[in-house]
Amino acid sequence: MVPFLDLQAQTISIRPKLNAAIAEVLDGGSFILGPAVKRFEGRFAEFCGVRHAIAVNSGTSALHLAQLAAGVNAGDEVITTPSTFVATVASILYIGARPILVDIDQETGNIDPNRVEDAITERTKAIIPVHLHGLPANMTDLATISEKNGIPIIEDAAQAHGAEINGKRVGSMGNVGCFSFYPGKNLGACGEGGMVVTNDDKLAKRVSQLRDWGQEKKHFCHTLGFNYRMDGFQGAVLNVKLDHLEDWTEKRRSNASYYREKLRHFGWRLPSEPKGFKHVYHVFAPDTNNRDVLIERLKARGIGYNIHYPIPVHLQEGYSQLGYRAGDFPHSEFKASATLSLPMYPELTNEQIDQVVAALE
Ligand SMILES: *Cc1c(COP(=O)(O)O)cnc(C)c1O
Repeated sequence: MVPFLDLQAQTISIRPKLNAAIAEVLDGGSFILGPAVKRFEGRFAEFCGVRHAIAVNSGTSALHLAQLAAGVNAGDEVITTPSTFVATVASILYIGARPILVDIDQETGNIDPNRVEDAITERTKAIIPVHLHGLPANMTDLATISEKNGIPIIEDAAQAHGAEINGKRVGSMGNVGCFSFYPGKNLGACGEGGMVVTNDDKLAKRVSQLRDWGQEKKHFCHTLGFNYRMDGFQGAVLNVKLDHLEDWTEKRRSNASYYREKLRHFGWRLPSEPKGFKHVYHVFAPDTNNRDVLIERLKARGIGYNIHYPIPVHLQEGYSQLGYRAGDFPHSEFKASATLSLPMYPELTNEQIDQVVAALE
């Protein structure tokens, strides 16, 4: 028995600190934003190496506001990949903008910069690379394309808290970065949460107004805004958990190394970690052969698994309006057919990994 995820193990390890932080919010009465959220914003900005962090109520809201603040309007085009969680593409549609999907690089699973360049038109207003599974996208090549064409990059870093390229953290490399604190993410709230990070003062100000009804001061609405504020309780919980994030990331990374060693002889494509890149292993997902057979073996031994993601966004029924069809993105479609996510969390032990590998053998 190895669960796919074990959130209880994490909660138990920090339970007294969580209790105290939650009690402080209860006693203080700041249930929306407030001092705990403000403190978390400052600390998370520092963690990412940026000047501003604006807390919101989900990663999806972060993506929505980042695009609005970056000047994406209805009818504009935004480039991203079909190999992502649907939220990335949904957030573009919320604005009435048009998602232009381009295929991934087969080796890394992240957006292929060459294809991004080919997809740019005069209507392109943003590029959204996704740091899928915790591996940063090729931000070096994307930055060159962004500068050459004057198109901002909005990083979808929802799965990649603390991931790096040559010591620079995700969220600090594009014009703006978006994070999710959904409970299962590498840094997870006890509920919903998200963050927008940026070095751009104007963009930060726009996001902070947009999350709170377009207000700068109470009762003065500058634009049409949203109710996208973070809860005080989530800020308090995230402050406690942020203290442990570096340690948890190192544990994920050492679990990934152990998996690599044990899976080496399987002949699968194991998660790529290019030189200079720091992967934070939100998910450990090799491209397998005979996935259905493997799943049966895991099930038989009570071992959890998942598939991220079985259907690429362009083939989801709810996204047929995009007008794509099977065969349009062969690399993404192949990934969807071969990828298998194995148990991965900081508390996972080598003995548990041995059990997973024995079941797959
Ligand atoms: C989780 C996730 C989101 C959405 O975050 P929520 O907090 O669930 O709204 C967006 N993009 C990616 C890649 C994600 O994994």
